[in-house]
Amino acid sequence: MTQAFDVVVIGGGPGGYIGAIRAAQLGLSVACVDAWTNAKNKPSLGGTCLNVGCIPSKALLESSENYERAGHHFAEHGVMVGQLSLDLPQMLARKDRIVDQLTGGVAYLFKKHKVTSFHGHGRFDGSAEDGFRVVVSSPKGEETVLQGRHVIIATGSVPRPIPAAPVDNEFILDNVGALSMTAVPKRLGVIGAGVIGLEMGSVWKRLGSEVTLLEALDAFLPAADEQVSREALRMLTKDQGLDIRLGAKVTQVARKGKALKVTYSDAHGEQVLDVDRLIVAVGRVPNTEGLQLESVGVPCDARGFIEVDGHCRTAVPGIWAVGDAVRGPMLAHKAEEEGVAVAEQIAGQQSHVDFNTIPWVIYTAPEMAWVGQTEQQLRAQGVDYRTGVFPFAANGRAKSLGETRGFVKILADRQTDRMLGVHILGPFASELITEAVVALEFHASSEDIARIVHAHPALSEVFHEAALAVDGRSLNM
Ligand code: FAD
Ligand code: NAD
Repeated sequence: MTQAFDVVVIGGGPGGYIGAIRAAQLGLSVACVDAWTNAKNKPSLGGTCLNVGCIPSKALLESSENYERAGHHFAEHGVMVGQLSLDLPQMLARKDRIVDQLTGGVAYLFKKHKVTSFHGHGRFDGSAEDGFRVVVSSPKGEETVLQGRHVIIATGSVPRPIPAAPVDNEFILDNVGALSMTAVPKRLGVIGAGVIGLEMGSVWKRLGSEVTLLEALDAFLPAADEQVSREALRMLTKDQGLDIRLGAKVTQVARKGKALKVTYSDAHGEQVLDVDRLIVAVGRVPNTEGLQLESVGVPCDARGFIEVDGHCRTAVPGIWAVGDAVRGPMLAHKAEEEGVAVAEQIAGQQSHVDFNTIPWVIYTAPEMAWVGQTEQQLRAQGVDYRTGVFPFAANGRAKSLGETRGFVKILADRQTDRMLGVHILGPFASELITEAVVALEFHASSEDIARIVHAHPALSEVFHEAALAVDGRSLNM
């Protein structure tokens, strides 16, 4: 028997589960189909983000930073610890507990909002009289047929494979393996010095690995503001000891007993790197496997992303797509906001996501965060701008935290003073960036920020001082 809903969501990650909850809040009947099965062979909502992405990586980043602080920084505060030791099973168990709590939380939210949850793989099976058929295949092979007046595709992404380094999650790892190594490898290689490479490389470096990152591009983090990427590269290599090799193209990875021999070429010719484990983090690709999009006529672009317009509408009215499966940054908050916008449009409301004000954060130490235009983008566009930079080193709260590296940089239009971009390298950049997002969303000028009272002592004063610096009138420098 077919079960009919106003909305069927395929995928229970941030795009799908948030879209499902919002649609239910708006009075629509909603089903969410999700295929995720965790390591304990249990259904686990929340997608990549909650299971093997944002959340477990941040748990390990925090734990490894605590280990580093206890080993290297507590003594400066007069806090003496005895012999420091690492209980990796406990660290991993803590991470798993956080994941279980949050994924269980999504199941609770579904019950609370009366979203009907189906565990299994969903695929289209053509159009129905009033909408579209979606067939759910459970892990046991049972099939359920759903009908949705609207269908939201939120099937996310999977790691991009490279032929030279096929992932087995024993020696060659993707994000799943990188988050669950049961011993600290002596030598860890990482292919790709992007977001995952830097975050995972930082975790295992702090826990004791020698970490080498092989990055194909000659430039480090080219999407970030050049001043941030330059300074971050210096800190990550000099202070943290990550060995980041740019312009390195991996050609072969060979198993040698319990080790791996990675062959790559760079400007100096062919090189070899011996490691015990290798993480592959070279980007992600949209996940549309087995969706049978052809049965409803939804096209993908040349890179496999489901084609959507600015409102997340596919070419077929009534079928929408959000999150990592469509164009735009692969970020959980972007997926969530698209889920909300689609649910509201289905309910007849006007809603959109402003791509100009989506913040980026990289959770290294110190963190990097930015929103809006970079200096190199403004230069390329010929925009006349002013810059205000203020260092954390001149801030009292940063000093008491012992986190004085980095700066806040504000870019503002020279004529109108409207803020065009904000770039932060420093402590809690992930939290501080939200003030910049609000400022850009409200079309604030740097003068607006300069005239807003900021609490003292607080890291946000650095943002305030950077705004004053745009007009050359920082007070504490
Ligand atoms: P996903 O979270 O991938 O969810 C898709 C869901 O759909 C999955 O549960 C999948 O099993 C299911 N599915 C797929 N196909 C089907 C089908 N046919 N039938 C049923 N179910 C299906 N982003 C941030 O913003 N901040 C971070 O700190 C951050 N850290 C990250 C760290 C790592 C290691 C990784 C890998 C990613 C990180 N991301 C981060 C990116 C973030 O996880 C993604 O952008 C986000 O999860 C995308 O959400 P989504 O809903 O589009 O897809
Ligand atoms: P990424 O795009 O951030 O980085 C991949 C890096 O690998 C790039 O620098 C690229 O030049 C390099 N590369 C590509 N092919 C290569 C090759 N053959 N050899 C060597 N280097 C190669 O991708 P990622 O780190 O895999 O992360 C995937 C996505 O997940 C990110 O784009 C991001 O959207 C999301 N994510 C976000 C966060 C966060 O928000 N803090 C954290 C982790 C992941």
